[in-house]
Amino acid sequence: MSTQPDPKCPVCGNERTQKNRPFCSKRCADVDLGRWFTGAYALPSEELPDEFDIGMEEQIPDDDIYRN
Ligand SMILES: [Zn+2]
Repeated sequence: MSTQPDPKCPVCGNERTQKNRPFCSKRCADVDLGRWFTGAYALPSEELPDEFDIGMEEQIPDDDIYRN
């Protein structure tokens, strides 16, 4: 009932080694790490201006009260 597939390197599909598991070599480990970092740095970083906008809008009614 339990058919386990042979463990393979997720980067290139070669047999993984005990030393560099779950990869077959240090090179493949670096490739995978590079992908991970690329994804992390690709996160959008333009959410701060949005928060500023919301804060400014909330101060507009306050200003109106002062004028009256
Ligand atoms: Zn590999």
